[in-house]
Amino acid sequence: MPAMSKLLAADIGGTHIRVATFSFNDPKPIERRKKTWREINQPIFDQLTEVIDSLWEREITLISIASPGPLDAETGTIINTPNIPEWNNFPLSNQLKERYQVDVLVNNDANLAAFGEWHYGAGHGYHDLIYLTISTGIGSGVISKDKLITGHQGLGTELGHTTVMPGGPICSCGQRGHLEAVASGPAIVRYVRENLNQSSILMHSDKKLTAKVIADAAAAGDRLALDAFSQAGMYIGQALADHVHIFNPGIIIIGGGVAESDAILLDPAKVSLKQRIMDPRFLEDLVITRSKLGDDSGLMGAFAIAQIVQSKINSSNIMKQGD
Ligand SMILES: [Zn+2]
Repeated sequence: MPAMSKLLAADIGGTHIRVATFSFNDPKPIERRKKTWREINQPIFDQLTEVIDSLWEREITLISIASPGPLDAETGTIINTPNIPEWNNFPLSNQLKERYQVDVLVNNDANLAAFGEWHYGAGHGYHDLIYLTISTGIGSGVISKDKLITGHQGLGTELGHTTVMPGGPICSCGQRGHLEAVASGPAIVRYVRENLNQSSILMHSDKKLTAKVIADAAAAGDRLALDAFSQAGMYIGQALADHVHIFNPGIIIIGGGVAESDAILLDPAKVSLKQRIMDPRFLEDLVITRSKLGDDSGLMGAFAIAQIVQSKINSSNIMKQGD
């Protein structure tokens, strides 16, 4: 019976693979696994199927994957992704289809995270939202009038690659001065490296310099660390002003590890956004908040989209039976 079908969702993150199984109509996972894939010298596809195998059940009718892009969601092909160099024009959907003999959906992880926050997280009840995830890179997704925007080829809403500093540092994509190149975790680390001086506690720390270590120093009042975050926040606000002018969202949701530093980053971002907005009405009832699902937003977005696709399949089966 289609109504009894189960769904499998997976999120391939920068360091972890998260996989969970769900009943068709219940967002609470039946079972879930998390695996660190970077530490093992084995093709990532094999590591993914190993986790899927460990949760596999005959009742599963649909697999939904959140993958880093750029990717072609129509064919389920990963075009190329700096995160997983071995997946160059990799037909992920076809490979999984062949192995498990069920339909497979493959979508951009940040788009799905936006979708997950919209259905089950901080964006629930909103019709227009922007989601930004700030960690090693800056990913994003946009819902406009209850529709996920993907663009002509499904490559759209790469808000992390908005130019905020023409001629600035090189971005992971190869272009210069994108938001990701000046406001992601590595950019915050780079700022501290370049400006390190005796007066900062980071000069005397033997810990490896990471965005988290810098956030801790900022929380302790270290001037250099605070400057690093306020500069990143300033650029985030600058980009968000553009995004708010374009999309006029009701809510902006910020996720990702770097955003866990919270007010240290978000306060300067809000100040900078306010300075650059063309009309205060854009900000009147705009909510800016942290993500609610945290590391699970991509996984829940993969489930949400699978549920929608599966319910379409179910209703078309019922129609066929009625013929
Ligand atoms: Zn870029």
